[in-house]
Amino acid sequence: MNGRPAALPPLRWWGWGERETPVPPGLLDLLRDEAGVSGELSGRPPDLDAVTLPDHPLPAPLSRRLARIVGAANVRRGIEERVRHAAGRSYLDLLALRSGCLPGAPDAVVHPASAAEVALVLRACADAGCAVVPFGGGTSVVGGVAPARGPFAALITLDLERMNALVDVDTTSQTATLQAGMRGPRAETALRARGLTLGHFPQSFEYATVGGFAATRSAGQASTGYGRFDELTRGLRLIAPRTELNVTAFPASAAGPSLLELVLGSEGSFGVITDVTVRVHAAPRFRRYAGWSMPDFDSGTALLRDLAQRRVLPDVARLSDATETRASLAVAAGRAADMARRYLELRGQREPCLLVLGWEGDGATVGARERPAARLLRKHGAISLGAAPGRAWLHGRYDGPYLRDSLLDRGVLAETLETAAEWSHLHTVRAAVSDALQTSLAARGTPPLVGCHVSHVYGDGASLYFTVLAAQETGHEVAQWSAAKRAATGALQSAGGTLTHHHGVGVDHAAWLEGEVGPAGIGALRAVKTQLDPDGIMNPGKLLG
Ligand SMILES: Cc1cc2nc3c(=O)[nH]c(=O)nc-3n(C[C@H](O)[C@H](O)[C@H](O)COP(=O)(O)OP(=O)(O)OC[C@H]3O[C@@H](n4cnc5c(N)ncnc54)[C@H](O)[C@@H]3O)c2cc1C
Repeated sequence: MNGRPAALPPLRWWGWGERETPVPPGLLDLLRDEAGVSGELSGRPPDLDAVTLPDHPLPAPLSRRLARIVGAANVRRGIEERVRHAAGRSYLDLLALRSGCLPGAPDAVVHPASAAEVALVLRACADAGCAVVPFGGGTSVVGGVAPARGPFAALITLDLERMNALVDVDTTSQTATLQAGMRGPRAETALRARGLTLGHFPQSFEYATVGGFAATRSAGQASTGYGRFDELTRGLRLIAPRTELNVTAFPASAAGPSLLELVLGSEGSFGVITDVTVRVHAAPRFRRYAGWSMPDFDSGTALLRDLAQRRVLPDVARLSDATETRASLAVAAGRAADMARRYLELRGQREPCLLVLGWEGDGATVGARERPAARLLRKHGAISLGAAPGRAWLHGRYDGPYLRDSLLDRGVLAETLETAAEWSHLHTVRAAVSDALQTSLAARGTPPLVGCHVSHVYGDGASLYFTVLAAQETGHEVAQWSAAKRAATGALQSAGGTLTHHHGVGVDHAAWLEGEVGPAGIGALRAVKTQLDPDGIMNPGKLLG
């Protein structure tokens, strides 16, 4: 299904999963040559016992009330529990966790087992004036699960891990209702047992949850074919502190503005999503993934636009720019990578751009869908690299975050950011963001390697996903990345990109949201928040700032 077991160990408290992933020597050489990275081991995180946390006991009456609702064992205040819920998984989160000094951590972590318990917990917190941070897998990269208190003295994190059942499958309609705390592998395994797939595979698939996917409008690696999570979602249940919203699943509806759309992407600011009804698909019996080399990024995007506008897109379409392709070849270093490089040079491609396309379904439909694409690939100058790059990508598609931990061990700044834009200004946005990152980091004496890929393709435009690698500025790591991120965000907004294609707003992007939706948009969202969360306890500081 995805090459990983359904029951993974929990996230490392300071990073990603337990699997050690050494930095490939070829990548280290590239970083030494092009980004001035020393590559020396520069330290591992401290022991958990050495982590310092603020001393914030939960008020005793609230603590007792919560214990009556969920059971005393499910109101947890241990150090490890609080540390595990103190941050998401952005680069800045990882720096904070690795520093061992966490000025913010929840006072307690509450684990409800049902929507009824969620409702009672939220009511208790509203009565007591206690902030609530909903927590799925904790993989937010925009500060979505940061324990920000707002005006409240007390704060709990509400972890949905116990709500992880498949509630219902309607095989006739091809829909399924899943509890919000189901992680990707568990949801997929439960559906596969019925011959179905969710088709949602973000890079964080192993740890992120169904509720998190809905709350952030997540996009998976196969979203070009199966659809983004917001497109897959048909209905849901939102428990707010003093009320509840049930959005019934329909194939489509014209009954006024979409309440579903209002909850999707609400990032815990309006309430807690407890159940999600999604469109599911027959599990593919056949898949064909293959690689091509494009002469440059422009011909690659022209090809993707052609595929999209002629409506012959594959399920996975992923185009890397020349820098990212070089990094992939460096990771794969060896005879095959050298031969590929020489072969492409002979064919006139000196700065090749790797393209991976993947089709899923049954043998006959995959063949029929592939044929028109083959003609367009030839037209745009693609050179076939065969099945190996497709297989390699499928095999390694969840490896990035494991590798990031090892890069941080070696003093490397490693972070990503993303946007989307219409085709007519996609290249302007890409250039503006790249330039902003290069200029900001080079000015600090740490010139970066900035790679970019397109991985979500639409008729009118595409996503752009940037990976930034640079030497860390020792002693100023936070300021170094914060300045680069500010510059990149300003650049993408001025050039016409969206603030975020799939990571969401959280704390990190909140100040920029008005630039995208305008003051009336912010006012409308605030009015909804006031209606659903009149005490303002839900996830303070996120989305609306
Ligand atoms: C290495 C890495 C790779 C990633 N790759 C992708 C990718 O390919 N595509 C993508 O879209 N994203 C990606 N992300 C971002 C992240 O995984 C997604 O935003 C994901 O949807 C978050 O799910 P989660 O369960 O971890 O949510 P959390 O991180 O726990 O929460 C995210 C936000 O949603 C809120 N929330 C969570 N659950 C609920 C709920 N039940 N009800 C209400 N609010 C809730 C939280 O309060 C928070 O604001 C990646 C992150 C990392 C670290």
